[in-house]
Amino acid sequence: MSYVDEVLERVIRENPNEPEFHQAVKEVLDSLRPVVDANEEQFRRDALLERLTNPERQIKFRVPWVDDKGQAHVNTGYRVQFNSAIGPYKGGLRLHPSVNLGIIKFLGFEQIFKNSLTGLPIGGGKGGSDFDPKGKSDREIMAFCQSFMTELCKYIGADTDVPAGDIGTGAREIGYMYGQYKRIRGLFEGVLTGKGLSYGGSLARTEATGYGVLYITEEMLKCKGDTLEGKTVAVSGAGNVAIYAIQKATQLGAKVVTCSDSTGWVYDPDGIDVAALKEIKEVKRQRLTEYKTYRPNSEYHEGKGVWSVKVDIALPCATQNELCLEDAKMLVSNGVIAVSEGANMPTTPDAIEYLQKSGVYFLPGKAANAGGVATSALEMSQNSERLQWTFEEVDSKLKTIMVNVFHNIDDAAKKYGMEGNYVAGANIAGFEKVVNAMNAQGIV
Ligand code: NDP
Repeated sequence: MSYVDEVLERVIRENPNEPEFHQAVKEVLDSLRPVVDANEEQFRRDALLERLTNPERQIKFRVPWVDDKGQAHVNTGYRVQFNSAIGPYKGGLRLHPSVNLGIIKFLGFEQIFKNSLTGLPIGGGKGGSDFDPKGKSDREIMAFCQSFMTELCKYIGADTDVPAGDIGTGAREIGYMYGQYKRIRGLFEGVLTGKGLSYGGSLARTEATGYGVLYITEEMLKCKGDTLEGKTVAVSGAGNVAIYAIQKATQLGAKVVTCSDSTGWVYDPDGIDVAALKEIKEVKRQRLTEYKTYRPNSEYHEGKGVWSVKVDIALPCATQNELCLEDAKMLVSNGVIAVSEGANMPTTPDAIEYLQKSGVYFLPGKAANAGGVATSALEMSQNSERLQWTFEEVDSKLKTIMVNVFHNIDDAAKKYGMEGNYVAGANIAGFEKVVNAMNAQGIV
């Protein structure tokens, strides 16, 4: 049995009931086969893949909090510190009822390679809780965030582990968590990113992930002699990544005709109105059913459906496994030319294979959405310098990083004879730097 297969079998055996983690490890290790085969003896001797697939540390804790009626609740908190070979652990905190250890491990594992691809010195980690922020009052959110941080603050720090936002964790939650960290540890330091501008946040961090998805997509199209100008785009999600992906796509001359949330989706033939979407989601925190009151020409549908619309480009920006084989078939039959993942692992493995075989340019999340964590690392730099850069400065660095990520993964795919396979390119390019650092640091 090959070394990769042995490790895959072991990961599945030792981490039962964690299908998302198995999926992420399999996808990465499968595409690393040419690199692993070329170095098998050394990697086996150093148990390189066993170390890479085992988190350095995983922390699980109780998060008790009291609701507005005086009822106590207990949620579970997690922080998985996966790999610190190239820098302090960095990765978001997800607050969603679906969160469990396997989901956090899949996200933390992906984060290692994504962070490496940015070219910045950040290791991989992820955390979160099964707490559901939906429908909670501000006071309840604060109570949860304070309790969560009371425990988490023992394990993080500006030079050890720097969490950020993710699904369910936006500026409000980061603010409450930061306040509690400062109160307990007495340190005003860059321990979280995605902070508000008045207390150490970076301009353009809010926009970064969505903007980055478009910068890298534009660069890929440019290399094919094409452009975003005049293209029709389907976006899923209506959160942080989706909103700013829609905004940048529109600025670059494309027309985005869909968005969605966990209950339904919108089709707007005239192009999604970003101002209305922000008002509904960021200010009023309402459902997408409200969109029609701003844009009477649009349609609202319950359930899934954004991938059934005829578009040139698809940007899944909601959650994992939201674009499956059936969706990929619809997209291809409607003539889609590119799919770039704004979310983490939104496309199922069989859908990725189908898209690639059908000649669709496919940019995986660990490359396409790396702009968020890259800008988080820029926020860390600003905090260390005790300076704040302008929006233009951060945005231009972000753009350069995304262009470099594209060429980095493109070159890696070519080097191993897999031109155009950006999944393999991203995994290989991310892996090479991490492995180099792990080798240099000995068996730790
Ligand atoms: P948000 O919480 O801001 O938005 C998530 C969106 O996806 C919401 O519209 C939400 O709907 C929808 N959604 C969430 N879960 C589901 C589900 N199970 N089924 C259907 N729809 C769902 O999160 P972000 O925009 O920050 O994150 C989106 C994705 O991007 C995630 O995969 C995240 O890991 C990834 N990502 C985020 C980065 C960031 O900087 N924020 C960086 C890199 C990756 P509803 O409004 O109904 O909850």
